[in-house]
Amino acid sequence: MNVLFAAPATSWETYRAPLFRAFDQAGLQATLHTDPDAAPETVDYIVYAPAGPVSDFTPFSRCKAVLSLWAGVETIVLNPTLTQPLCRMVDSGLQEGMVEWVTGHVLRHHLSMDRHIVNPLHNWDPAVPPLARDRKVTVLGLGELGRACAQALRALNFAVAGWARTHHSLEGIPCLHGADGLRPALARAEIAVLLLPLTAETENLLNHERLGWMPEGAVLINPGRGALVDDEALLAALGRGGLSHATLDVFRTEPLPAAHPFWAHPQVTVTPHIASATRPETAAQVIVENIRRSEAGEALLFRVDRAQGY
Ligand code: NDP
Repeated sequence: MNVLFAAPATSWETYRAPLFRAFDQAGLQATLHTDPDAAPETVDYIVYAPAGPVSDFTPFSRCKAVLSLWAGVETIVLNPTLTQPLCRMVDSGLQEGMVEWVTGHVLRHHLSMDRHIVNPLHNWDPAVPPLARDRKVTVLGLGELGRACAQALRALNFAVAGWARTHHSLEGIPCLHGADGLRPALARAEIAVLLLPLTAETENLLNHERLGWMPEGAVLINPGRGALVDDEALLAALGRGGLSHATLDVFRTEPLPAAHPFWAHPQVTVTPHIASATRPETAAQVIVENIRRSEAGEALLFRVDRAQGY
C-alpha cells in the first residue's frame, strides 16, 4: 500500500523511523513517500498536518482515509475537496503533555506563584493560598484532552466542573452541557480552562457577555484555539478587573504578531502553542492502527464528524 506523508518537511525526519517501526510491528507492508505530485492516484492513505503540501485532495482518487497528526482539524474539516473519511489525532503522549501543561498553569494561578517567584521589592506577603478543594475550576470541553485534565485536577482535589456539548458523567466532576449549561459553568469558574475545538459554534464563545459571567478576578487558561476567545473582549475584561489574568497558548494568528497587545500586557501570559504536541512514537502507532483497521474492514478510530466540525 502507498502512504503519503503530507506534513511540513521538517516533520518527516521525526516521524519516519516511528512510522516504519509501527508498520513493522503491525506486520503491514507500506511504501511511504512525501511527494504529493508522485502518482497521487496510487495513494491509499494520507497522513496529514496543517501547513503541509496538500490542500487539494481531488487527485487522490484511490485514497481511503486522511489521518491527521493534529487533534484540532479546523483547517481541513471544511475542505470541499476532501471526500474521504477524516480521522483526528488522539495520542497518549499528546494527552499526557496537555495534562502536565494545564496542571502546571492551574497550580501557578491557584498558588499565586508569581507573587513570590519574582519579588523585586522583597515584599513579605504572608497570604496563604486556599486549598485546592476550595478552588473552583471549570474545564470547557470534555473530550480526550479536557476529560484527562479535569480528572487530573480532580485528583489534586480541585473543585472541578466540566462543560461540553452533550451530557457527560465523570466521577466527582459535575458536568454541564449545552447553551443552558454555559452560564453556570462560567459563573463558578475561578479558573476556566478551554479545551474546545474551533468550530462554527465555538468561535468567539468567550465574548464580552460571557466573559462577564465569570467571577471577578477569575483566570482564563486557553490551550484550545485562539478564536474561541474574542481578543478585544478579553482585553476589556482584563482592563476592567473582571478577569485577573489570561494564560494563552493559542492565537488567531500564529506566531502571535509582535505588535499584538497580548505580548506586553502584564496580565497576559503568552506561550507559543506548546501546551502539547503529538508525540511521533505513540502517534505513529495510532496512524498505523487506523490503516490496519481500514484494510481489515473495521471501523476507523477517532473519525471526525464533519457536520459537527470535530
Ligand atoms: P475532542 O474532540 O476529543 O473533544 C472536544 C470537546 O469539546 C468535547 O467534549 C465536545 O463535546 C466539546 N465541544 C465541541 N463543540 C462544543 C460546543 N459547541 N459546545 C460545547 N462543547 C463542545 O478534542 P480534544 O480533547 O482531543 O482536543 C480539544 C482541542 O484542543 C483540539 O480541538 C485543539 O483545538 C486543542 N489542542 C491544542 C493543543 C495545544 O498544544 N495547544 C494540542 C492539541 C489539541 P462533546 O463531548 O459533547 O462532543
